[in-house]
Amino acid sequence: MRATIHVWGARGTFPAPGPHTVRYGGHTSCVEVRAPDGTRLILDAGTGLRALGAALGLPAVAVRGTPASSEPPAPALIGLVLTHRHTDHVQGLSHFSPLLSGSHAIHLWCADDSRTAVEPFVRSLLSPPLLPPIRSAGSSLTVHPWPLGGVVHWGDLRVHRMPAQHPGDAAILRIDDAHGPLLGYAPDNELATSVKRDAAAAAWRAQLVSFLRDVPLLLHDAMYTTAELTMYEGWGHSSAAEAAALAHDCGAKRLLLFHHHPDRRDDEVERMAREAGAEAAREGAVYEIGPAT
Ligand SMILES: [Zn+2]
Ligand SMILES: [Zn+2]
Repeated sequence: MRATIHVWGARGTFPAPGPHTVRYGGHTSCVEVRAPDGTRLILDAGTGLRALGAALGLPAVAVRGTPASSEPPAPALIGLVLTHRHTDHVQGLSHFSPLLSGSHAIHLWCADDSRTAVEPFVRSLLSPPLLPPIRSAGSSLTVHPWPLGGVVHWGDLRVHRMPAQHPGDAAILRIDDAHGPLLGYAPDNELATSVKRDAAAAAWRAQLVSFLRDVPLLLHDAMYTTAELTMYEGWGHSSAAEAAALAHDCGAKRLLLFHHHPDRRDDEVERMAREAGAEAAREGAVYEIGPAT
């Protein structure tokens, strides 16, 4: 097996807890990629990130303290890549318990194209007046600029980006391992832009298909039904049918519809997926990526 993909949040725009979202979940975008060597890479910091932190069994260390006689263990590494800075992709960061545990070193990159500095933005999310002062037990958070070479190297994984059609200069990500493409991740992306009779849009669509060529797993924005699309042109999101067409064009082996509309009930998500001939990403589900063929 090449990797496991754990979906911690598949909802778009705003958390949507309640009886009608129990099957696909109410937490916003957060996906964990685990490589066989233990490399942990997190894509987006929506509210699902809090549950991921809790699953790591933290912040027990911060509460108990480390016995004085023992050598503190080497911090566990966590890589975190944001596609952009809309609230549904960053809101979980302030309640990510490894930040408090004293036992993790977190490295963060933001793949958006904004010229606004990332580090002050991230620090502001973790500070008053949004929150009380955070008393960290010493976990480190290092915010990196996107590398000049264009690729983030994290353990055995490599993170590539290309611009999405979405307000906020969002990015689409492709994660590779030594065997090639592993995962395409496009939580917020308006594919309808690409059907305009416009040379730039056509070039972008061709670039996207090439960028995602033969990914074993594609997670793509499917906020809207085909009927809703006409009302939301320019809002930066796609329909399930459009996501399915992209998956077909790029040769993705498996498509997971993602970034479900916060008002979409479970049965509606299910129907959209069925009509698109796809699956809907489900919070709490783990998807395995098998050996390269
Ligand atoms: Zn979003
Ligand atoms: Zn967004």
